[in-house]
Amino acid sequence: MMHMTESLTVTEISVPKVPTLPDAQTVTAVTHWTDRLFSFRVSRPQSLRFRSGEFVMIGLMGENGKPLLRAYSIASPSWDEELEFYSIKVQDGPLTSKLQHIEPGDQIILRPKPVGTLVLDALLPGKRLWFFATGTGLAPFASLMRDPETYERYDEVIMMHTCRDVAELEYGRQLVESLPEDPLIGEFVAGKLRYYPTTTREDSAQMGRITDNLTSGKVFADLGIAPINPETDRGMVCGSLDLNTDMKTVLEGFGLREGANSDPAEYVVEKAFVG
Ligand SMILES: Cc1cc2nc3c(=O)[nH]c(=O)nc-3n(C[C@H](O)[C@H](O)[C@H](O)COP(=O)(O)OP(=O)(O)OC[C@H]3O[C@@H](n4cnc5c(N)ncnc54)[C@H](O)[C@@H]3O)c2cc1C
Repeated sequence: MMHMTESLTVTEISVPKVPTLPDAQTVTAVTHWTDRLFSFRVSRPQSLRFRSGEFVMIGLMGENGKPLLRAYSIASPSWDEELEFYSIKVQDGPLTSKLQHIEPGDQIILRPKPVGTLVLDALLPGKRLWFFATGTGLAPFASLMRDPETYERYDEVIMMHTCRDVAELEYGRQLVESLPEDPLIGEFVAGKLRYYPTTTREDSAQMGRITDNLTSGKVFADLGIAPINPETDRGMVCGSLDLNTDMKTVLEGFGLREGANSDPAEYVVEKAFVG
């Protein structure tokens, strides 16, 4: 009698091929902050190097079998083992109507080609660095606020973040408040990071638009600091097209000039979304 294994050939026992997603990364954590905002962490491709403040394309496989990708700022710092993102939930948005349902263990697509203008190299040296963000525009600064290089280059870092409601500030507030105690970077941050959150709709301790609080001088009075000066101050802006346009006027009114990776100057701007 023929032995069972002798009748088997390699082709007869071949394993069916499981299709693998190109550039797939695994979701490790998801936090829902409001019905419009969530953050999540994913595994980091070993080859991915980026500068804090840059963005990448991420997404999900569409129903037509093609990747559905959108630009996302990396919210984690360049030294982190994982990648963090801070996201809007647009109820009829092609990507985020689905992305908001991801859970740990799920896979997303991540193209490992980081780019962007909100990088320390695009600014000339200075003493004070201002981060100006509305909504999810906080994301690139969540990265830069956790990068020791930010504090090596500047004596003082001021994070201005504006949302409509108090709950929408919470991701940023918890991050900023935890940093001085952080075992890895607390020693760089402590005493250097100032936080100026405001709301525009719901009543809170500090209210108003970033542009108004700068032009009225309220933020300087509240923080007990000198107004923005091109000799000492540098700025990074991330918000809606309207915020970015208005902030250019305000910062140029203080004498700052727009810079770029190839031509560093006193401030840089990036869109938080295309709207
Ligand atoms: C350089 C860059 C970086 C970005 N980084 C982030 C990020 O870190 N986090 C993030 O959530 N989004 C970010 N975006 C926006 C992101 O690319 C998508 O637009 C967003 O994920 C919604 O995708 P969607 O397919 O669901 O809807 P889309 O069709 O892309 O957008 C639908 C509409 O929703 C509104 N919208 C989109 N994104 C936002 C937002 N973030 N805040 C408020 N309104 C919005 C706009 O009015 C837009 O026209 C970034 C965009 C750019 C250009």
